[in-house]
Amino acid sequence: MFTARTYLAALILAALPAQAQQNDNKQQMLHAIAEAPSADNIKRDIEKLVSFGTRHTLSETESDTRGIGAARRWIKAEFEKISAECGGCLEVSYSTGVISGEARIPNATEVVSVIAIQRGKTDPNRFVIMSGDIDSRVSDVMDFTSDAPGANDNASGVAGTLEAARVLSQYQFNGSIVYAALAGEEQGLFGGKILAQQAKDAGWRIKAVLNNDMIGNTAGINGVIDNTTARVFAEGTRANETEAEARSRRFTGGENDSPTRNLARYIDLIADNYMTNLDVMPVYRLDRFARGGHHRPFNDLGYPAVRIMETNEHYDRQHQDLRTENGIVYGDTLDGVDFAYAAKLTALNAVSLASLSWAPNPPADVTIKGAVSANTTLSWAAPLPQEETLVKGYKIYWRYTDASAWQFSREVGKVTEFTLENVVIDNYFFGVASVSQDGIESPVVFPGAAGSFGN
Ligand SMILES: [Zn+2]
Repeated sequence: MFTARTYLAALILAALPAQAQQNDNKQQMLHAIAEAPSADNIKRDIEKLVSFGTRHTLSETESDTRGIGAARRWIKAEFEKISAECGGCLEVSYSTGVISGEARIPNATEVVSVIAIQRGKTDPNRFVIMSGDIDSRVSDVMDFTSDAPGANDNASGVAGTLEAARVLSQYQFNGSIVYAALAGEEQGLFGGKILAQQAKDAGWRIKAVLNNDMIGNTAGINGVIDNTTARVFAEGTRANETEAEARSRRFTGGENDSPTRNLARYIDLIADNYMTNLDVMPVYRLDRFARGGHHRPFNDLGYPAVRIMETNEHYDRQHQDLRTENGIVYGDTLDGVDFAYAAKLTALNAVSLASLSWAPNPPADVTIKGAVSANTTLSWAAPLPQEETLVKGYKIYWRYTDASAWQFSREVGKVTEFTLENVVIDNYFFGVASVSQDGIESPVVFPGAAGSFGN
């Protein structure tokens, strides 16, 4: 019924600036994305991956029902199915390289990852990547014939990546999103090394890699049962920092503000704003103690990259021959996976990817000055020409030097320089984020080489 009241409401809506309406829509879309990932889909995909018996990198490639070849062909077909349902919105391909003469890959072996690219509208050469690993293993890393279900390590990461693609392919973004099922992880991070180098050679501007490695275990070896937290591992200073950059960092700071650290802070805030019953525990180190994952090859080339994973691991269910010994059941089997929890961590990825890809490019060429002065001045590059209309403005953040997360902020409008009066440079760390017309922010960029997200 059309009443005077609905008429008034329509008038008020019409009078609101378009930006405010869009703003509501984007926030609502991020909430919808947070609720969309399906535990049933993830369960079905993990079951399918486990059904290939072993997905060991050196396992057979001819069979359609067993081994790494069957697994990667199924993943490619699954991405193609998702693409067919969004009018061909994904570019699906293999990323391959031949590895030989390595301790864990002695003979020439094709390492084949599967990637699907969802192109962005305004800035298609800007990329965020979500990844999981195809391959699995048992106690002997060279055993390529025994059953290695790898249900949690790392069918959970691949299933989460497929499900995020299903959810996000329903939307259009400004930057591009890559969904990657990486190969050869257990044999030495080879699929990630190959893709990172290919991306660099192709000139991809990578702003974030969200590597998912084991996102389904909620009952830890430590006796803790917890489905309300997730770890985000983030290294400190850049692995490819030059000597001159390290020297400059020593005098101006940045050891806790690599782009990877600020990506972790961004994901932490995404969880606070959009996730129910999930808190991010940022871990300020590259990875677990002396252990590895597929974000590292990206870190090695200087790209911001984190590892997302469960908080409480169970080592009886990782890299184990299937067996029972002294009443203890070993093996990475389906019954050790909490599918609802894997869906929750998938949602954390999906909302983070969406927010990063709706936001404008993170500010480039950020500089700071203000020594021996009452004031602190930050400057940065103007928006990319193709994002001139997308950018509403910039937001400066700062925090005490011993604080873990950003504490203070100020919107400064669409400028390329701003002076904070009577905020002394010595007593805080500073950064700047770009903000879209509809209120979506980029990660905070710390000034100089130490914090740069690139151009
Ligand atoms: Zn593993």
